[in-house]
Amino acid sequence: MAEKKEVDARFKKFGTVSFTSLTKTNDFITKLEEGKVEGTKCKVCGMVFFPPRADCYKCLSSDMEWFTVTGTGKLVTYSKLQYAPVGFEGDLPYSIALLDYGTYKVFGRLAADVPEADVKVGMAMKAAPNPLPNGQINYVFHKA
Ligand SMILES: [Zn+2]
Repeated sequence: MAEKKEVDARFKKFGTVSFTSLTKTNDFITKLEEGKVEGTKCKVCGMVFFPPRADCYKCLSSDMEWFTVTGTGKLVTYSKLQYAPVGFEGDLPYSIALLDYGTYKVFGRLAADVPEADVKVGMAMKAAPNPLPNGQINYVFHKA
């Protein structure tokens, strides 16, 4: 009897992705739907990863656990895109940004409702899940 192969397509919900839709970290999408932005932490050496990784590049362990990105991060840098990678053209213009949470950094987008004039390097921001009108979900940065 042939065993039915299950396809884990949760990353399709993330919207356009420029990487494979099937990863060992598909729980990331389920956690977004639960209202949490999460990364992974190596249970062996303590390294933390965002975006989540299933394998630790430092000690090569695959013994990872999820942690929630909580509190605020400091805006390290941002850039308003006038040109976007293939697949993201319809989202223009949008700003990509990097938040420093101390022991890890989170790369993502500024929320569309953050006025450009308010954006200052060093400001406190927080990452939050961002459900899209088409049923997909990603995460964005809001003013803290
Ligand atoms: Zn490790």
